[in-house]
Formats: sequence, structure tokens, C-alpha cells
Amino acid sequence: VASRLHGIPPTIFTEMSALALATGAVNLGQGFPDVDGPEAVIKRAVEALETGANQYAPGPGVPALREAVARHQRRHYGLDLDPMTQVAVTTGATEGIAAAMLGLVDPGDEVIVLEPYYDSYVAMIQMAGGVRRAVTLRPSASGGFRLDPDELRAAVTSRTRLILLNSPHNPTGTVLTREELTAVAAVAIEHDLVVVTDEVYEHLTYGEGSDAPRHVPMATLPGMFERTLTLSSLGKSYSFTGWKVGWASGPTALVGALLAAKQWLTFTSGAPLQPAAAYALDALDTWPTELAAELRTRRDALCAGLAELGLGVTVPDGTYFTVTDIAGLGWEDGTTFCRALPERAGVVAIPLQGFYDSDAGRHLVRWTFCKRPAVIAEALDRLARSD
Ligand code: PMP
Ligand code: GLN
Repeated sequence: VASRLHGIPPTIFTEMSALALATGAVNLGQGFPDVDGPEAVIKRAVEALETGANQYAPGPGVPALREAVARHQRRHYGLDLDPMTQVAVTTGATEGIAAAMLGLVDPGDEVIVLEPYYDSYVAMIQMAGGVRRAVTLRPSASGGFRLDPDELRAAVTSRTRLILLNSPHNPTGTVLTREELTAVAAVAIEHDLVVVTDEVYEHLTYGEGSDAPRHVPMATLPGMFERTLTLSSLGKSYSFTGWKVGWASGPTALVGALLAAKQWLTFTSGAPLQPAAAYALDALDTWPTELAAELRTRRDALCAGLAELGLGVTVPDGTYFTVTDIAGLGWEDGTTFCRALPERAGVVAIPLQGFYDSDAGRHLVRWTFCKRPAVIAEALDRLARSD
């Protein structure tokens, strides 16, 4: 293997999903729903296949989807984007992350990430020749994991090029507050940094009432549009994780840098899925919010069940993951715990250690609640029956 991949372990999601398949365990590991997204969207994709959307789409994406993304950003966040120059379609947010790092990071540039981080960030920063600098989200007294702006400031050096942000945050479920984002923005402006923001869970937030934690896009903060590249995708919002339809939006220069790399990665993304994704965004605007309402009930059931078993539970404000502390069960090492869990209990979960540079995640384990209520109940039942 080439040196640019040295030290990057195989993704934990592959190991844990394979373990689930091999043991027949209930998979609360990898985050993919067990009910597909809206039928009407599938129909649009079938129609596109049948009516000949089967050759290369334009490199930056089918205009209908770029326009639908621009309308979505205007409707939800008041952002004004030129769909032809400020929106690009990617093969999932994963390609967006890859193309952003390859298009914006020079060898030796430092990239600040929140820790625990999504594992593809690590791989792509390294493959771009960049150097990762992790800022740890710390468990707070008020519950949840929070960003300390002083720690962020301390991570900036003369080599820092960009901040790779993620909110709502996988795996902790933290939804960064406007205050936290404002602190990040101040650092970015002061040090002339680019922010790449991964917002794939933008619609999956669970607050109720006016002071509820809501997703605030970094690009909407004063002075930030021109230095922010926003990534999202259809996978989480519309329960089509297997489609790998994503998009990037932002100022022409940043989208252009992403496209400069994307053209050599995939050239263009799958043509027949793009009109269907455009349809989802335009015609089924409230579908993700309805999904979030269902997920909220499942979140409460899973969190209550895990707490009852003796785990230290973080109730997330967003995403479809909850992080637990296994110390309450007498375990210390999450990786050992998760490798043994399918045999012991018939359940799969994800250890967080691999998402940390430090030791802070050793006793933390992530569980997803994007499964049917009966599946979550079955998992809890199995855990209760195990020793
Ligand atoms: N970023 C985060 C934080 C994720 O959890 C995921 C997994 N969906 C991705 C990016 C990848 O998204 P996609 O499946 O659209 O490539
Ligand atoms: N984003 C999902 C998760 O965090 C899926 C991971 C993946 O497909 N790499 O579980």
C-alpha cells in the first residue's frame, strides 16, 4: 500500500457490519435505515432510467439537481446561490469530503477537525498530504459534548489552512449552537481560514420549542459565506444512503476547487439518480422533518433502554446516534466490548476509540436509532438478557 495510506486502519464500519452479518446480530452500528426513503422518489429514478438518463451527466451535476439544491438552501437558510457556479453534485458527501481536501489542502497544510471525527476525514486529510489537528469535544455538565473555543484557538498555527467542521455531529449528536459557530467563525476570519462544513444531518435535529437546538449552517454567519464550502447529501435526509448522491455549495472559487479535483475522481456522478434527488428536495421538502419526528421517539426509546441497562447515555440533539459510556457496565475498552458484543448479546455497536487521537474515547460506544422500533426493542431485549 502506498505511503499516503500508511497508518490508516480499515474503516470500523466495514468490520462491524461484517460481524453483524456473520453472527446474525442486530446491527445498531453502521448508520443506515432499515426502511427506504419515499416511494415517489424511487419511481422518479426508475423513470429516469427508462427514459434514457443513462449517459454521463454534466461534470458539476444535472442542472435540475443543482437548481433544486440552490432552492433548498434559499428556502431553509436564506442563502442565494448561483446553481451553475456555486453548486456541484458529488457521489455522496464522501466524495465531497475527498474532493474538498484534494482541491484545497496542500502538503503540510494543517486541517482542524472536531474529535471524535468521522473516519473519512482522517483518511482524506492524509491522502491530500495535510496534517490533522484535533480539537476535542468535551462532555459537559449540562449533557452532551461541547466545543471549547479556547481549545480551538490553541489549535491554530501558521500552517493552518482550514477547519473541517461537522454539525449536527457524528458520532456525538452534538448540534453546535450559534454561539459555538460564531466562535469558530471568529477564528476562521481572524486567521483567514476556509471552513468545510459537513451538514449531512442538517434536518435530523430533535429539539422542540423556541430554544431548541436547531441546525445553523456556518455559511449563514456574517462574513462566512465567502470562506465556507458546505457539503450535504440525500442519504441521511431521505433515507437513501445507498444512492450516494451528495452536493457541495458555496462561493464559486471554493466550489471550483472542489470540482477541479472531482473531475479526476469520478468526472461525474450517477445520472439517473440526480433528477430523482431533485424531485425529493423540491416536492418532498418536509419529508426529512417528518423522519426526524419519528427518529425522536426512537432516540428516546433507545436512550432510556440503554440507561436502564447501566450505561452512561448522552441524549443527542441531532443525527441518529447516541454515545454511551460503558464504564457503568464494568467495561473499559470499547473496542474489546464491541468485538465481543455480537457473541455475548447478538448486537453490534461502534467503538469510538478510532475516532480519537487521544484516549478520550476508549470507553465510549455509539449506537444508532435509525432502525425500526421493533428492531431497537429487540436489541434492548437481547442486551438485557446477556450477562
Ligand atoms: N459525513 C458524515 C458525518 C456521515 O455520517 C456520513 C455518512 N453518511 C457521510 C459524511 C457520508 O455521506 P454519504 O453517504 O452521502 O457519502
Ligand atoms: N455515516 C454512517 C455512519 O457513521 C455510515 C458510515 C459509512 O458508510 N462509512 O455510521
